[in-house]
Amino acid sequence: MAARGDGPYVLDTTGKRYLDASGGAAVSCLGHSNAAVNDAIKAQLDRIAFAHTGFFTNEPMEKLADFLCERAPGDLNAVYFVSGGSEAVEAALKLARQYFIEKGEGSRSRFISRRQSYHGNTLGALSAGGNEWRREPYSPLLMPVALLSPCYAYREKRDGESDFDFGQRVANELEEEILRQGPETICAFICEPVVGATLGAVPAVEGYFSRIREICDTYGILLILDEVMCGMGRTGTLFACEQEGVAPDILVTAKGLGAGYQPIGAMLVSDRIYQTIRNGSGFFQHGHTYMGHPVACAASLAVQTYVEDNNLLENVRLQGAALKNALEATFGQHPFIGDIRGRGLFLGLEIVEDKETKAPFDPARKINAKVKAAAMDAGLMCYPMGGTIDGQRGDHVLLAPPFIIEASHVDEIVSKLAQAFQSTFK
Ligand code: PMP
Repeated sequence: MAARGDGPYVLDTTGKRYLDASGGAAVSCLGHSNAAVNDAIKAQLDRIAFAHTGFFTNEPMEKLADFLCERAPGDLNAVYFVSGGSEAVEAALKLARQYFIEKGEGSRSRFISRRQSYHGNTLGALSAGGNEWRREPYSPLLMPVALLSPCYAYREKRDGESDFDFGQRVANELEEEILRQGPETICAFICEPVVGATLGAVPAVEGYFSRIREICDTYGILLILDEVMCGMGRTGTLFACEQEGVAPDILVTAKGLGAGYQPIGAMLVSDRIYQTIRNGSGFFQHGHTYMGHPVACAASLAVQTYVEDNNLLENVRLQGAALKNALEATFGQHPFIGDIRGRGLFLGLEIVEDKETKAPFDPARKINAKVKAAAMDAGLMCYPMGGTIDGQRGDHVLLAPPFIIEASHVDEIVSKLAQAFQSTFK
């Protein structure tokens, strides 16, 4: 049982310390018990804990909205706060539909996404995702969604194909699918700039996202980027898409936004969409009781201000590069590690049974659960998951430590992970 937090460490009720190299699930970007955030929460509780947005806006909500819009790429100038990632995705799906309905193009109702993606666990968000083993028990889902190839060079690139050509080939699947179904029926393409939970920190190859943006523009389709996991500085820039040089029409984010101090998510919306709805019905037909919650917004504002004032994104880039180098040096030749990838402090190690053929372990071996248990024994929290590879479950370890880690923590993560692998594969 978790008892308390201390910077990058979590202590259980027996007093055992665990280095939190997973940030929960890429959430706790400031570590635990940050005094500035705790103070901001207490101060807001003393002012007002809850004010329904049907009656009032509130100061932390407005300040947080300004903070995000001033820093967001492109013309993402409007923001809508919710309580988490799935809610943000649901809002994005509905807003995309409403945008076309208000433009008189209501036939554009279908979404396209990618295999091995995750957009949340509510029925709409689950329908939009491509995580087979989560979808399967609930099929048929709410809406049919065409699933394209992920931009996953390690597994999907053909022999002799360059990274760039591979990226263009899988991006072009979007155009083929739009033409197959008819552009007048398609509303939006949704994907994660860096695939988190299902694949373990897989970024796209260069040129992929520019081509995706071009295709969306050609056919008037909205681009929704899901930065719930990879956003808010996790990859070394505030928004992961900044590194791709593209701006989406809608961007959703959550986890690192509140860093676990309060539940919060956000949807950032392009001016074009906002103005269309403002000049149309003037009203987004969507609302949640806790949207723009004052305490959640105050916590999030304190988190984001702390990250910026302490130049923590520079530390993400620095320690992220150091961690990746150390992982490569220690596990690059490991017989069961197939790939090491990621950006900033969002890194993944793919576990394979055969390094040569890239064959995953039999799911019955439950390798990811074993790595997790062994890491916990060693005093390390990491995030091992089983994705779906060619219809089979594959295993990977996702690392997402807090932005405050130092060189000694990097060493500790690598040595404890080595310990965990040793006892898993002995
Ligand atoms: N999108 C992505 C990319 C995610 O990683 C997650 C959560 N892992 C979600 C959406 C759903 O967020 P939540 O769990 O806060 O509902």
